[in-house]
Amino acid sequence: CGIFAYLNYCVSRTRKEIFETLVKGLQRLEYRGYDSAGIAVDGDKNTTTDGINNNIIVLIKKNGKVKALDEELYKKDCMDLEVELDTHFGMAHTRWATHGEPSALNSHPHRSDKNNEFVVIHNGIITNYKELKKYLNSKGYEFESETDTEVIPKLIKYVYDNREREDLSFSTLVERVIQQLVRSPLLIGVRSKYELSAEHIPIQYNTGELCSPLSDIAMFKEGVQEKNSHNRPDIANAVNSAEDGKAVEYYFASDASAIIEHTNKVIYLEDDDIAAVVGGKLSLHRLNRLAGEVPVRAIQTLQME
Ligand code: GLU
Repeated sequence: CGIFAYLNYCVSRTRKEIFETLVKGLQRLEYRGYDSAGIAVDGDKNTTTDGINNNIIVLIKKNGKVKALDEELYKKDCMDLEVELDTHFGMAHTRWATHGEPSALNSHPHRSDKNNEFVVIHNGIITNYKELKKYLNSKGYEFESETDTEVIPKLIKYVYDNREREDLSFSTLVERVIQQLVRSPLLIGVRSKYELSAEHIPIQYNTGELCSPLSDIAMFKEGVQEKNSHNRPDIANAVNSAEDGKAVEYYFASDASAIIEHTNKVIYLEDDDIAAVVGGKLSLHRLNRLAGEVPVRAIQTLQME
């Protein structure tokens, strides 16, 4: 069970480079154990998924090794590997099944619907997933996997569909959903097809014991990493000094060993922290935040080989 995500903002990367970064990130997490793997990336304008043809988030999932996923990526001949993506957010996951057998269908990312409007990767367990699933089923939301995780994107879609005229930011949407989950400590990444008000690319980290109880690794701090941080003393400064349109790359991982090759500057999130990147700027806030509350998390320097 591992999470790795890579966001390039105003930095041109080919799809092939993005694939390589994501796969390498997952390979660094392989030692933790897993049974299947998957990624979410942007498709081409003309990519067709389940008969739907638009600029869709594409999910590629495979049972077994990361190597098998890697091979699968290059079989998607509808995806142009050389295309330059100026701004892109890719998410990757290795799963250690707790609910639902290891299979491509049960592997992450999971999606809200066939349009892939919201996609989610998750480490942990949702203990009230049966109740939530039953409720969502009764509202007409159809599930395709046996996982507990799938209730997260379905619930996001439900809340989104029922927002009425409220101007809902993506962070608020995700927070509302998390508040409905009875769960083990969790770590999730969420992406939306929409640009929901200002905050459209959040990734939420809610730390604690890492991922499933099957993990016997004690280290559990999740890092958000900012590459071009120019020795900023803390995240509050990083947020204030980010300039519009400035090229930046972010790496998010469930384990610092996956990002050490990119930089040694990391931010460890604490329980109930939410990190979001909006318009190239990283911001942190708290689940159940009080108005104006901004946590200050120091940028730390990793001392790893
Ligand atoms: N409970 C989730 C599942 O079975 C996540 C497992 C994990 O942490 O990898 O899909």
